[in-house]
Amino acid sequence: MIIVMQAEATAAQISEVEGALQTWGYEIHPIYGVERTVIAAVGAPTQDEARVSEQVESLPAVERAVLILKPYRFASKEYRPEKSVVKVGDVVIGGEGFVMMAGPCTVESEEQLMETARAVKAAGATVLRGGAYKPSTSPYSFQGMGEDGLKLLAQAREETGLPVITEVMHVGNIDLVCKYADILQIGTRNMQNYDLLIEVGKVKKPVMLKRGMSSKIEEWLQAAEYIIKGGNEAVMLCERGVRTFETYTRNTLDISAVLAVRELSHLPIVVDPSQGTGKSSMVPAMCKAALVVGADGLLVEVHPNPEKALKDGAQSITIPAFQTLMQEMAVIASAIGKKL
Ligand code: PEP
Ligand code: MN
Repeated sequence: MIIVMQAEATAAQISEVEGALQTWGYEIHPIYGVERTVIAAVGAPTQDEARVSEQVESLPAVERAVLILKPYRFASKEYRPEKSVVKVGDVVIGGEGFVMMAGPCTVESEEQLMETARAVKAAGATVLRGGAYKPSTSPYSFQGMGEDGLKLLAQAREETGLPVITEVMHVGNIDLVCKYADILQIGTRNMQNYDLLIEVGKVKKPVMLKRGMSSKIEEWLQAAEYIIKGGNEAVMLCERGVRTFETYTRNTLDISAVLAVRELSHLPIVVDPSQGTGKSSMVPAMCKAALVVGADGLLVEVHPNPEKALKDGAQSITIPAFQTLMQEMAVIASAIGKKL
């Protein structure tokens, strides 16, 4: 932390700040300039620096305290310079390969789920997605099949061998969702549900943390920090688009977030172009963009009859479109040395 004193700070005020920092356990390195004094405070790793910086800023003649360390530790690249991988059975997310997670937005029926699961598996997907509990902006839209949906996901896994990812919406449901799911999805609306993050930090299942629709990357990484700090290191991130002034697309898919996460963190990152664009016509191209930019995988909504989907039909691609996408992705993957 660097403390910048006001130009008119007196010697007594400067030594008051120095004394306070030493009391908090910092070693101080002051620079007494002609115009003003700057104090570098180092070596108190157990302090909550954000709190200390606010306390320092409340002392007389302090202009500002600047934090140097990232507000997330375990999620940072400084903590772990090499990329981390998340393993789900035989599927490795964050390794050499590129992982396709595909399936319907929402589990609607046995027929719909099984048909989709068989088709995405045959086309090369290695994880099945499907929501049983759906967070909806409107209380009148379909809220999901609940436990019956989870049972269908387990049945689809049984038949296809695909591990399943599904959303857990609240703390009271974690045990139930864990009973059926292989990966827990934390949705965009819950990225800052800190009680939920703390609780999924205690379970032994991988977690995919979606970016809050209005969240900065730093806030997203701090949310991941909650889970890792709680003891669950199997965390992957998912960029799913953010709110901007644009309304033509449902969200603005922030492809550059993949690069930002790579620069800041060791966590695997996948991209969800379905929520990210809201338009099935844009999904295949965005999938390719995610592959080329260096994401670790995709989460894609596929539906046998998008026009009949109970949720997110406009952004769901058909089974034939998914098959074509997989073939085109394979060509790109081999050109850039990635394994699909
Ligand atoms: C979804 O994956 O269907 C979903 C609801 O995602 P998000 O939380 O990103 O809106
Ligand atoms: Mn959806």
